[in-house]
Amino acid sequence: MRYQDLPSAAALARYAAELNARARSRQAKGQIEIDDLRDVILSSAGCCGWCAVNLTGAAFEIDHIQALNRGGNHVRSNLVLSCASCNRKKGEKAAAVFALELLAAGGETTTLISRVLREAGLSPKVPIQTKLLS
Ligand SMILES: [Zn+2]
Repeated sequence: MRYQDLPSAAALARYAAELNARARSRQAKGQIEIDDLRDVILSSAGCCGWCAVNLTGAAFEIDHIQALNRGGNHVRSNLVLSCASCNRKKGEKAAAVFALELLAAGGETTTLISRVLREAGLSPKVPIQTKLLS
């Protein structure tokens, strides 16, 4: 799917159905609707939630922040717009682990990365090595 300011309802419906079928096949809880998908796309401002690359006019993917096989639910609050590269690199890793990898590689602290680290009891403002070792 490509980023557009107003993705067509038909395209969103097809994509939501595809994502719902994939989530069901993994026995994940939850279901998303067209409005959920539209909200994920529009609230991203067209940028990958993980690395902040601008995806305007480029292909994007919808990532489950907490992977479904790690107990993540198939619900709006667990979805983020992602570039294909981040989605592949993250794979089935824990969200906080991937966030730390991005920061270690010099990535910027996006809103999503802040949220993921906060939810894991970490803070990007605290020296991460110290926190993990304590
Ligand atoms: Zn990315």
